[in-house]
Formats: sequence, structure tokens, C-alpha cells
Amino acid sequence: LKRAKATGAVRFYEPNQARAARRRFSIETELRRAIEGRELELAFQPLIDLKTGGVSGFEALARWNNGRRGAISPVEFIPVAEESGLIVPLGRWALEEAIETLAGWDRKVGRTLPLSVSVNLSPIQVARDDVASCVASALAASGLGGERLTLELTESAIIQDPRRATQVLEDLKGLSARVAMDDFGTGYTSLAYLQRLPIDVLKIDRSFVSAMLGDGDSIAIVRAILSLADALGMDTTAEGIDSPELAKALTRLGCTHGQGFYFARPLPPEAVLDYWLARSA
Ligand code: C2E
Ligand code: MG
Ligand code: MG
Ligand code: MG
Repeated sequence: LKRAKATGAVRFYEPNQARAARRRFSIETELRRAIEGRELELAFQPLIDLKTGGVSGFEALARWNNGRRGAISPVEFIPVAEESGLIVPLGRWALEEAIETLAGWDRKVGRTLPLSVSVNLSPIQVARDDVASCVASALAASGLGGERLTLELTESAIIQDPRRATQVLEDLKGLSARVAMDDFGTGYTSLAYLQRLPIDVLKIDRSFVSAMLGDGDSIAIVRAILSLADALGMDTTAEGIDSPELAKALTRLGCTHGQGFYFARPLPPEAVLDYWLARSA
């Protein structure tokens, strides 16, 4: 398949396409080096309990500052990592780093903080890696309890191989970790899976949230997701809350948690405790 694609690119030569292919290829090479050299970092975006206004945890988001090109967005490098298989070592690193960082905050404060950390899992990790044993050994190495960890999966992780995904989710539940369905509403999960799988949180995709104010259809979708989650006993996190109006509207609709630039952008790890202290005061 790769060969056929390459031939096609030569036959129907297009400068833009060739440039994009070259960039993709060098990003792959540089990303491999960055993972090995531990050049990636995690940023932590607060997850807010909309009832109390307090911080309930942080989502760990990969950051890559490539010396030559500057910051490269995960929107660009995660797909490259997935196509090349590099997502397996990258995902393991993110998991270990997030868990170890939360354990470090506990140590710094001298007690178990009432905070959890959420880590994204790619469908490729679910398909190819032994995610549950990675989680188990990272938890054991840090001394952190499984209930402090949430794994965020997208709908595609489930529909690609429902049996395997079910097993992984059940193993994760066995470790007391929580499971969130990320970007909910953009995929093709059947409602039967939602009912059957041990999912704790539905994260409402940013596209519905940001279109909510002034768009009746998006409000209707958000309402439907909220009542579905409520009926199934799941929490809800609205992504992309970037204004006080959105925060208010979602709280009124009964959404339990929120995340977005209105509360905070993803923070470097060294800024997290100060943010948490200021917000809890
Ligand atoms: P996601 O898991 O849905 O993460 C939320 C994304 O929304 C983050 O983008 C965050 O910065 C952005 N965001 C949060 N609030 C707002 C807001 O109010 N407005 C706007 N415009 N954006 C907001 P980011 O960090 O660029 O990450 C993009 C995606 O890359 C993530 O989407 C996730 O799918 C993926 N990703 C990031 N880190 C990892 C990782 O370690 N592993 C895997 N598998 N995927 C990752
Ligand atoms: Mg996520
Ligand atoms: Mg998301
Ligand atoms: Mg998203």
C-alpha cells in the first residue's frame, strides 16, 4: 500500500502534496528521536467540578517542542505516531509520566491530594499494546491508587475491536481506574456498547459545546447526551468551555464537569499546584 501511494505521488506530482509527505516523514523521524531522548512533555488541563467550582483533576496532554520547528501540535504528531506505531512507546511514556507526576505532587504536599489524572489512550494502543499491564506496573512503581487514574478512549477504540476493547476496559476496572469516552458524539458507538461497557464518564465533544449558544440543534444534542449519561449513571465532562456563558449554561443543564480555556489552558506541571491552591482557596 505504501509503495502504491508513493508511486501515485510521483505520477501525479503536486508540490503541496510532496511537501506534506516530506514533512510527515521527517516528523516521524524526529518524533522517534524525541521519544527516545525524552524530549516530550506533558501539560495538564484542569477538570472542574461544575457544582462546586473546585478542581477534580487534570487531563495530561502531550507537548513537543521541536528545537528547529518550534512547538508541534499533538493534532499533527499524534496521527503520525499512530500511523508509524510510535504511539505505543509514546503512550507508555505518557501513562508513566502522568502517574509519576501526580505521585510527585502528593509527595510535595505531603498527603494524598483529592485529584486524579486523565490520560488519553489511542485505539492503536488498545489494539496492539497490553495497556492494562502497563497501567498496573506504572501504578505499582508510583504507589498511586488506581482510582486516581482515568483513561480516555475514543469511540473508534471500541468499534474497531469491541471484544478486545471490552477486555481492556474490564481489566482497567479491575485496577480501580476510571474510564472516559472522549470526544463523545463524533463517532459511531452503538448505544448497546455504552450500556454494556464499564464507562464512567462521557466527555461531550467540543464541537457541540462551542456551537451550543445560539444553535438549537447543538443544545438539543448536548441535552440528549446529558440525559443519556444520567440514565446510565455516568458523569459528564463538557470539553471546550471557553466563556462564562457556556460554563453557566452547562451547569444549568446538569453537566457534572467542565474543561476549557475559560477555566484554564493546559498548564506546565510546575504550575499545577499553585493553580490548584488558588482555586481551592
Ligand atoms: P482531547 O483528548 O480531546 O484533548 C482536549 C483538547 O482540547 C486539547 O488539545 C486541549 O488543549 C483542547 N482544549 C481544551 N479546552 C479548549 C478550549 O476551551 N478551546 C479550544 N479551542 N481547545 C480546547 P491538544 O492538547 O492540542 O490535544 C489534541 C488532541 O491530541 C487530544 O484531544 C488528544 O486526542 C490528542 N492527544 C494529546 N495528548 C495525547 C497523548 O498523550 N496520547 C494520545 N493518544 N493522544 C493525545
Ligand atoms: Mg482527551
Ligand atoms: Mg476530548
Ligand atoms: Mg477533543
